[in-house]
Amino acid sequence: MGLRLKRPARVPRGEDYDLVIVGAGPAGLSAAIYAARFLLKTVVVTVDVGGQLNLTDWVDDYPGMGKIRASDLVSNFKSHAEMFGVKVVDGVKVTSVEGPDEEDWLRVKGTRGLDVRARTVILAVGSERRKLGVPGEKEFAGKGVSYCSVCDAPFFKGKEAVAVVGGGDAAFEGALLLSGYVGKVYLIHRRRGFRAKPFYVEELKSKPNVEFVLDSVVKEIRGDDSVKSVVVVNKVTGEERELRVDGIFIEIGFQPPKEWYHSMGLETDDDGYLKVDEWMRTNKPGIFAAGDATTLWRGFRQVVTAAAMGAVAAYSAYNYLIEKGLYKPRKKG
Ligand code: NAP
Repeated sequence: MGLRLKRPARVPRGEDYDLVIVGAGPAGLSAAIYAARFLLKTVVVTVDVGGQLNLTDWVDDYPGMGKIRASDLVSNFKSHAEMFGVKVVDGVKVTSVEGPDEEDWLRVKGTRGLDVRARTVILAVGSERRKLGVPGEKEFAGKGVSYCSVCDAPFFKGKEAVAVVGGGDAAFEGALLLSGYVGKVYLIHRRRGFRAKPFYVEELKSKPNVEFVLDSVVKEIRGDDSVKSVVVVNKVTGEERELRVDGIFIEIGFQPPKEWYHSMGLETDDDGYLKVDEWMRTNKPGIFAAGDATTLWRGFRQVVTAAAMGAVAAYSAYNYLIEKGLYKPRKKG
């Protein structure tokens, strides 16, 4: 039997939608499922499908799924939305959301010619990875500097040592995974307390090949063709150490695209997360937000919380259309 390749979805241009969802992580795809059940004419446009789930290996805390590969959970979310007739257009970056105009239309523009009108928009765009900003970081990106241990750990199998920077779940999950692949893992963190869940901390402490380098920051990443060492400074004693490593995994959280939000007139908190109320409404009529991009439940970013926000945002978009007298249910898909 011949291989049947699925044709990529056409990038919409000139169409009108009840709802455009920007982003296809758990928040965006959950919003899509609910929007379809509210019979809204909906399209999802996204740079990639999966969001933060693409940076995770396994998920074992999404209700009803047991332990599931993150990639399988993404496929489930996507096919669930598509089952209800929602089109997911991949490989498109939304560059602006303008409006609403006097007729309550928002205009959504993006790469590859995306240009549509929408009554409502849900921004579920996640957020970008934070950088250390030290010498060597840019130079060795992809040559030993990684921002995703879960994605890149297998490439370091059999190496002598690596460093992981950060004190949150991502750093601990990454360090745990890496401790199974490499001879030694240095966990470098700028203070002694951790944001990571206690069971991650306990598990990592029990690993004989993990050394905690605390109260310390990375000063420089050194190498030739690839990373060979990192220089760390203890903030309390001032002591400097050069650790011989084959790679460094920078897992220090995320940096939202604050300037982009402000350019569209959207309010954020000081760190750049989109301000939303409990119904996921931003300050602009018709524009909602969900997931890691928002101020809601910061410090507890989970698949289940992102999915919940997506569902609520879709419900709010539906209510907004009803309140405005703009709700025209499409035929059931
Ligand atoms: P995070 O929770 O924001 O932690 C970032 C860590 O990096 C913090 O320990 C922070 O230190 C440190 N940091 C920040 N800026 C730094 C800098 N410039 N230099 C040095 N260190 C810096 O980020 P995350 O670990 O990426 O997790 C993001 C969200 O995803 C969290 O809500 C997390 O729970 C979730 N997540 C969950 C799982 C899971 O449950 N399996 C896995 C991964 C991520 P301070 O503590 O001193 O601020």
